[in-house]
Amino acid sequence: MKVIDIINSEKVTLSFEVFPPKTADRFEGVLAAATEIAGFHPAYISVTYGAGGGRSAFTADLAKKLHDDTGVEVLAHLSCITSSRQIVAERLREYKEKGIENILALRGDIPEDGQVYHDYTYASDLVREIVAEGGFCIGGACYPEGHIECEHKADDIDHLKIKTDAGCDFLTTQLFFDNNIFYNFLYRARDKGIRVPIVPGIMPITNARLLSRSATMSGTNVPERFKAIVDHFGPDPKAMHQAGIVYACEQIIDLVANGIRHIHVYSMNKPEVARDILDNLSHIIEL
Ligand code: FAD
Repeated sequence: MKVIDIINSEKVTLSFEVFPPKTADRFEGVLAAATEIAGFHPAYISVTYGAGGGRSAFTADLAKKLHDDTGVEVLAHLSCITSSRQIVAERLREYKEKGIENILALRGDIPEDGQVYHDYTYASDLVREIVAEGGFCIGGACYPEGHIECEHKADDIDHLKIKTDAGCDFLTTQLFFDNNIFYNFLYRARDKGIRVPIVPGIMPITNARLLSRSATMSGTNVPERFKAIVDHFGPDPKAMHQAGIVYACEQIIDLVANGIRHIHVYSMNKPEVARDILDNLSHIIEL
């Protein structure tokens, strides 16, 4: 099934995200966690792709195994900045052979050593190539607060328009902790003529370390209200887990109340996070 049809349906749904292992010996452990998450019947599960080598090798295998074993729909990520055209062509062939119908097309982060291939510059280059290949539903990434490398938000939206014009069927946002930032972004994207569905991405912060890592990497604004929550509950792991779940659920409830029907949750291989989110929203999310 194509993810775009899920997103466009009238049902209020959630999807979760998992990341593949770095090494083969950890594959079964990650598969077990992802299978448990699939057991909660999310609308789909997205499987991330490592920037280079390592994790990227297991994305297709994990997505296929999840799909075959549990019947859950999968969205496999694919990044291009550290890949040659030949590698991307091989990956697309592999995704097709493995029955993967949905791809999140990404540029990927520039590695610290600056080692990139020069076959692709932006995600939109990859999107065009996947469109030419045919048969895939294509998603792209977007950044309500602007991508960290882009100085002006307005330019970032112009670049996003190029990406959607290249053939993205939908977009998923980077995490954010203030829904007003998302609503403002939606308004600006629509104003620029970006018409594809934009799926908000919510990350439940269940420990204080995760917050500093996520906020630093993404440049996401952390509202004072949330900072106070993490300051207060951070030292107590169980309390922080509960507070993080409730904060994410509040965000989701507000999104649904404002007409958003599909939300992506960065569940990070943690079945307990997926379960606790769904337990709190059992009368709101339609499984
Ligand atoms: P692009 O859309 O190419 O944008 C990158 C930068 O280039 C932006 O600053 C943009 O403004 C600028 N730009 C774009 N087009 C143009 C243009 N035509 N002219 C001038 N400037 C332009 N990373 C992974 O490695 N693996 C993953 O699985 C993964 N999953 C992700 C999922 C989501 C939902 C999100 C939001 C991010 C994910 N990332 C992942 C991170 C992502 O790879 C990085 O944020 C990366 O730095 C940008 O990727 P992009 O696809 O958004 O790039």
